[in-house]
Amino acid sequence: MIPYGRQDITQEDIDTVVDVLRSDYLTQGPKVPEFEKSIQDYCGVAHAVAVNSGTSALHVACLALNLGPGDEVWTSPITFVASANCARHCGANVEFVDIDPRTYNLSTEALEDKLKDRKNSGGTLPSVVIPVHFGGQSCDMVAIRALSDEFGFRIIEDASHAIGGRYRDKTIGSCRYSDITVFSFHPVKIVTTAEGGVATTENAALAQKMVLLRNNGVTRDPALMTRPADGQWYYEQLELGYNYRMTDIQAALGCSQMQRLDEKVSIRHQIANRYDAGLAALPIVLPFREDFSYSAFHLYVVLLEEALASNRRAVFESLRERGIGVNVHYIPVHTQPYFRRLGFQTGDYPYAEDYYARALSIPLFPTLTREQQDEVIAALTSALS
Ligand SMILES: *Cc1c(COP(=O)(O)O)cnc(C)c1O
Repeated sequence: MIPYGRQDITQEDIDTVVDVLRSDYLTQGPKVPEFEKSIQDYCGVAHAVAVNSGTSALHVACLALNLGPGDEVWTSPITFVASANCARHCGANVEFVDIDPRTYNLSTEALEDKLKDRKNSGGTLPSVVIPVHFGGQSCDMVAIRALSDEFGFRIIEDASHAIGGRYRDKTIGSCRYSDITVFSFHPVKIVTTAEGGVATTENAALAQKMVLLRNNGVTRDPALMTRPADGQWYYEQLELGYNYRMTDIQAALGCSQMQRLDEKVSIRHQIANRYDAGLAALPIVLPFREDFSYSAFHLYVVLLEEALASNRRAVFESLRERGIGVNVHYIPVHTQPYFRRLGFQTGDYPYAEDYYARALSIPLFPTLTREQQDEVIAALTSALS
């Protein structure tokens, strides 16, 4: 089976991890700060806080922004469930904003309309909006930032798909237009630490809070303590936190992986361009590229034409039978049973639901060979004829 995504692990990655296994620290050693520094340097951002997953990064980001009961978080329905769950973990409510049918990102027009409706009707405005850079292509952050200035919400970019991508002249993760940006390092993502995540920010206070929250709220920093230390063993718990620490084993893998980030993204573009050419004649919609964005190309999603929507399952199954590990990203979050129990229904976000009915993610990862890619193109061509 050719999977839709696959990690790319080199001998150098392996050697780096083995070195940690032979070292004094498996966790809380020198590798985590080294990994954080590599993300800071790459993204051009002041702070990077490494944690044990993208989900944890979203959670500490929400907590750092003081999200709690009575607050609302707005995000896209076409994302992994974690983008919405982080709000629920803080006791906040979730609302969705329908997608832009060209980019599958949260629609800035729909966001603006919903904000105005709420304001005019005296309803609740969001405390935090979480734009998700779907497939690695940035949302229109200038527009979202302008709305945040007007309506007073904070912004967490869910850039789980987007490390190595750019928006205008900024690297994603720079937080030029947001409070916090979150990355995931799950093996299907662009860079992997097996499991892991990072939250970046320009704001020192937010970074400090996330550092506390990932480590049970505990600090050894005398500057933060409420009283002089009893001795060198002394630490204080200042917040109710979690054990969301990244290990040195994971961070070492991340450091090694970061060195090839640009190369990996550039290979993803070459593969995507080749798909664009090879699939151009088929009755499918190919990924739209915003001219303000350099996508990290985490996913290559094709949309069956409207008339073929009812064939999606058959096309999916025929590709799987031919050994092509296609997938579907994502089932609209508001239609999940957990969110239905909170009152969401089918029909709430029509563009997201229409997208879901027609979408297929086809294999895209740096070690995909030309032969494998030709196999994917041939299989899709025959499945659609
Ligand atoms: C992968 C992913 C996450 C969660 O990341 P984990 O590292 O798996 O916890 C969150 N949001 C999006 C959009 C993702 O794709």
